[in-house]
Amino acid sequence: MFRRLLTLEEAKQAIQKYFEAKPLGVEETPLLEAFNRVLAEDVVAEMDIPSFNRSTVDGYAVKAEDTFGAAENKPAKLKLCGTVNVGEKPKITVKRGTAAEIMTGAPMPEGADAVVMFEDTERKNGEVYVYTAVTKDENVMKAGADIKRGETIARQGQFLTSREIGAIAAVGRAKVKVYKIPKVAIFSTGAEITEPGKPLAPGKIYDINAYSLSAAIQESGGKPVYLGVFPDDPVELEKALKTALASADMVVTSGGVSVGPRDVMPTTLSQLGKPGVIVCGIATKPGKPTTVAVISGKPVFALPGHPTSALLIFHLLVRPIIERAAGKKPTENTTIKALTSVRMFPARGRKTFVTVKLKRDSGRWVAEPVPTGLSGAITTILRADGFVEIPENQQFVDEGEEVTVYLLRKALGENLA
Ligand code: AMP
Ligand code: MG
Repeated sequence: MFRRLLTLEEAKQAIQKYFEAKPLGVEETPLLEAFNRVLAEDVVAEMDIPSFNRSTVDGYAVKAEDTFGAAENKPAKLKLCGTVNVGEKPKITVKRGTAAEIMTGAPMPEGADAVVMFEDTERKNGEVYVYTAVTKDENVMKAGADIKRGETIARQGQFLTSREIGAIAAVGRAKVKVYKIPKVAIFSTGAEITEPGKPLAPGKIYDINAYSLSAAIQESGGKPVYLGVFPDDPVELEKALKTALASADMVVTSGGVSVGPRDVMPTTLSQLGKPGVIVCGIATKPGKPTTVAVISGKPVFALPGHPTSALLIFHLLVRPIIERAAGKKPTENTTIKALTSVRMFPARGRKTFVTVKLKRDSGRWVAEPVPTGLSGAITTILRADGFVEIPENQQFVDEGEEVTVYLLRKALGENLA
């Protein structure tokens, strides 16, 4: 198959031309199941929260002016007029010279405008001795102080974490509209690839990619549909691809896209329907054999077999598409500036990504390449904090030069230590 390497940008444009990454639809979910989903509506409070003035402490509801001048040695003496419990409408009215026992969270009774904490009082023969003065509204949370009616408390496109979910519960919503989760079929290829958990025959290796990529798909907001491992056989691959296309909104595979005689993925993909293969190799290092097809309106990303390459290309090319399909705003790459520890060279004519480890040195970050030899080792990505991008037309990046490091750890949901 004829290959013309596209630049990374050209590859992105080619994908955009044939596949519009947009939300797949909206569904309603119980709030209890909304964690990690993407909100498909603005949630507007239809009421004030709290909906009534409430006490923020256990104590006595009073008229503030009745406590003016009260002090440790000069208590204000008020007549106990009743009790206000949480969860009920107060039946009493606090008049001048009286105080009502009140619990944290209970509604303020009529007439009272402040609460004195129990700690600042004493009860003696039906009287409440108040040893401190309070000002109007002291220890009172006013209606609407937390959330005002009409206020937007969570917005469309927002990722639902415990915080948003709590706020949505506060306004009484039991269900929310969320974007449908894109299903992403995933399988690995190669005669040597064995599913973890099975015995490892001589010459075989365990499947890394289906697992690392499944996790990356979930991080991006998609739902992986794992289909297994398939040999580099056109008939088997065609079957696997057809199953994948029928069971998901997009497909991610790994392996079998290089130029070896067994690398039959590109030709198989080109026979499955129009427009077929739209990217057949990109001018990056790693990731050169990356192949992308659009079949029956669904994108198929055939990533290189090397685990580090597969994950890096996923990150650069696939993640933003899953994120958009999931209704998320594509996450910006988090970057920091660092000085290089050695001179770094790009591969000729290819945009080169050097995976680096970050170290702190005299208050600056230093980016040190993770030794790989080959891009095959999973430990490369395990040890890496990020990558430095060297443009194809640049001769080299000098030792000690300042570079931008794209943080991989952050993108992968971890924090940089
Ligand atoms: P390929 O692109 O199929 O030529 O694979 C390139 C290299 O990556 C080979 O050394 C493969 O054994 C290795 N490889 C391919 N797929 C996987 C996988 N799913 N897990 C781990 N290593 C893989
Ligand atoms: Mg292979």
